[in-house]
Amino acid sequence: MRYISTRGGMSPRGFREILLEGLATDGGLAMPESYPRYEAPDLARLRKLKYRDLAFDILSRYIDDIPAADLKRLIDATYTAEVFGSDDITPLKTLEPGLHILQLSNGPTLAFKDVALQLLGNLFEYVLAENHGELNILGATSGDTGSAAEYAMRGKRGVRVFMLSPHGKMSPFQTAQMYSLTDPNIFNIAIKGVFDDCQDIVKQVSNDAEFKRRHHIGTVNSINWARVAAQIVYYFKGYFAATTLDTQQVSFAVPSGNFGNILAGHIARMMGLPIRKLILATNENNVLDEFFRTGRYRPRGSSEVHQTSSPSMDISKASNFERFVFDLTGRDAALLRTLWQSVDGGGEFRLADTPLLGKMPGFGFLSGTSTHADRIATIRSVYQRYGVMIDTHTADGVKVGLACREPGVPLICLETAQPVKFAEVIKDALGLEPECPANCRELAQLPQRAEVMGADAAAVKQYVHDHCVS
Ligand SMILES: *Cc1c(COP(=O)(O)O)cnc(C)c1O
Repeated sequence: MRYISTRGGMSPRGFREILLEGLATDGGLAMPESYPRYEAPDLARLRKLKYRDLAFDILSRYIDDIPAADLKRLIDATYTAEVFGSDDITPLKTLEPGLHILQLSNGPTLAFKDVALQLLGNLFEYVLAENHGELNILGATSGDTGSAAEYAMRGKRGVRVFMLSPHGKMSPFQTAQMYSLTDPNIFNIAIKGVFDDCQDIVKQVSNDAEFKRRHHIGTVNSINWARVAAQIVYYFKGYFAATTLDTQQVSFAVPSGNFGNILAGHIARMMGLPIRKLILATNENNVLDEFFRTGRYRPRGSSEVHQTSSPSMDISKASNFERFVFDLTGRDAALLRTLWQSVDGGGEFRLADTPLLGKMPGFGFLSGTSTHADRIATIRSVYQRYGVMIDTHTADGVKVGLACREPGVPLICLETAQPVKFAEVIKDALGLEPECPANCRELAQLPQRAEVMGADAAAVKQYVHDHCVS
């Protein structure tokens, strides 16, 4: 499998060449040249597989420049009951016939990002060891992404993580999760400022090409292709768990921010999985709902971003969305470049001005917006009707999913985090403390450490330099 850029300006590359990169060399995003197809007899075969074997079957079509036996070993070491709580990895919980929750958040940080990042950690370590390379990951986080990246990379040879977070601004749970890590390759830097200050510092450091090169600086943001690929697997897993026949269709409801999770669903559908609708749910930051309802894509300014009670979906633009539009254009890189010229210049585009509007229905998307009041009401009604506690992000997905539900079509709502991560809102909604899974109970007792610094890129560079033994 070779990879091309959405903007058409990169000569095709292998998986290993794009694994450690963020953007493609021409500013676009890496995409597989084509999607492998599974036909009905293939689905019958896949249905019988355990998660690890299913993951290998799917991922080996996208990763063919790592020897199969090595890839199998990396996948087997990633998706274990020890790390994800059960051999199912992503168990399906049935609320009532035809209505299900696919549990994606049983990994170490209790959010769905673990499913992809745990594999990424093992892939990075493998490829770096073979190349005698090293990688210093520099990132900014307001919570979920940073902790999932740290838990994926802790103890990995050849990798260090320098994670900037806003001092005193994360939830106590997220702070404890990150700052209690004692692995010598994990560096938490608490910046006296807000999340935007952290992100600005990362940008400033990244703009210094010489510093970046000399210190082997990289990222693990949501545009990494391997993350998207790893997420395709659980759409298949969820489908098989909710159906008995390989001709049956299901719909998925997906709480969305950067469009990484639901992009994997789109790809599963392109690969032949019988998905009827992909139901995209946003919170008050509804740039994607606006697009799927009206055909207008208008990224917001950072001052327009609302701080909500489903904070991992608080986005101004959706960084993986370009990959979907590439498929929507029939992979017309020239048209995509034109559309993104206006997006990258701070503008917008409208499908009505292009030949694309008529193609949209073929991709099966529906969408909706969920507000704080909707989240509270949904958390309450799911708890009252089914005795199941869901988190705020999952509630956005359930709310919009139920609004789009069709009779006779099983609906699978993706659970993206566990309620304990957002305990305050759950207490408001239910008057109850969410349960703490075993692996987080002792978290509050552990000592915490972080380097506290001013919002100063030069000081962060010095710190990175001092702690990279090159
Ligand atoms: C990251 C995240 C999302 C959004 O996923 P995208 O891939 O960015 O669309 C939703 N819920 C939770 C809990 C998350 O951490």
